[in-house]
Amino acid sequence: MIKNYLIAPGPTPVPPRVLLAMAQPVIHHRTPQFSQIFADAKRALKQLFQTEQDVLILAASGTGAMEGSVTNLFSPGEEVLVINGGKFGERWTKIASSYGLQVAELKVEWGRSARVEDVRRLLDERPGIRGVFIQASETSTGALHPTEEIARITRQRDTLLIVDGITAVGVFDVPMDRWGIDVLITGSQKALMLPPGLACVALSERAWQRTKEAKLPRFYFDFARERDNLAKDTTAWTPAISLITGLRESLAIIFEEGLPRVFARHTRMAAATRAGATALNLDLVAPDAPSPALTAMFVPPKVDGGKLVSYLRDRMGVTFMGGQDQFKGKIVRIGHLGYTGTFDIVTAIAALEMALHHFGYDVVLGRGVAAAEGVLMAGMPD
Ligand SMILES: *Cc1c(COP(=O)(O)O)cnc(C)c1O
Repeated sequence: MIKNYLIAPGPTPVPPRVLLAMAQPVIHHRTPQFSQIFADAKRALKQLFQTEQDVLILAASGTGAMEGSVTNLFSPGEEVLVINGGKFGERWTKIASSYGLQVAELKVEWGRSARVEDVRRLLDERPGIRGVFIQASETSTGALHPTEEIARITRQRDTLLIVDGITAVGVFDVPMDRWGIDVLITGSQKALMLPPGLACVALSERAWQRTKEAKLPRFYFDFARERDNLAKDTTAWTPAISLITGLRESLAIIFEEGLPRVFARHTRMAAATRAGATALNLDLVAPDAPSPALTAMFVPPKVDGGKLVSYLRDRMGVTFMGGQDQFKGKIVRIGHLGYTGTFDIVTAIAALEMALHHFGYDVVLGRGVAAAEGVLMAGMPD
């Protein structure tokens, strides 16, 4: 028998309480019973997004809300800016181009964060830019982008800031209203501790205004129609009933812990993982502004990262993620968002050093674990 551990930056493990909530018999969605569940989830989501606005719940993976943010807010030919520092930044470009927007890209070296001065300069040079697309946390590299600082620039102009917060919301503080974010998105399979299948998205007041003039075609992801239905505690189409039942439970877990503690836990798990990696002499992919959601590290030059990740998964039962494109075979990504605790990190670092040892890398077994434990001790109860 091999016991399996999912320690990836999404999908993430689902707590037993949430699994049990989702195992209830399916109820009909046009009923007071479902509306009650929906209303509870809706209320808690606003707290999670730290917004007074409605948070739409769509039956889609996160990309559905990304696509909807393009089609609901823009018109063909409009100019937008994409901050592209990895695979998910690239996805913004692909979606926006597919819909005929004129995309200017701020290319950011993988592992680095966008520079605020570059964003300001580009917006000054091209006053026609009507929207800026960004990842708060770029999951392909593990780097953060300076969302708060960029919001300070966009909110003073007629430029919407659309934030993919899929590995940010529920991981670290992204107060939508306070920062002046226009669109904030998350997905169920990351910090929300659910299986994949839900995307959540909130719009600022001026973004809602923009939906009225935006001319791109839309049907399934029609945000205004969803908002009208949300007001009646229902959805435009058949909702993912079981997932929303699970969402109510996972949000209950999050608010039992409380957002400040949730954020502190993610910060601690990330610091411990980085300490473990560093003690093994592995270079971090995003040393300057590492995301609390995941830690990406380079594998030693003599080790094939693809084989390392497969060995960990298939022979040791530990699922991390490798890299894509320019990082293929070169990096390992360890997820520590959502339902992650102290001993997931101990497991992750132990597995990593054992696997590296197996591939002939010169490691002192236990050194990474000791470093991680040193950080994790700070979170131990009195
Ligand atoms: C996981 C993730 C997504 C969503 O991808 P889907 O496969 O559509 O769920 C988007 N952006 C980021 C930053 C992510 O981590």
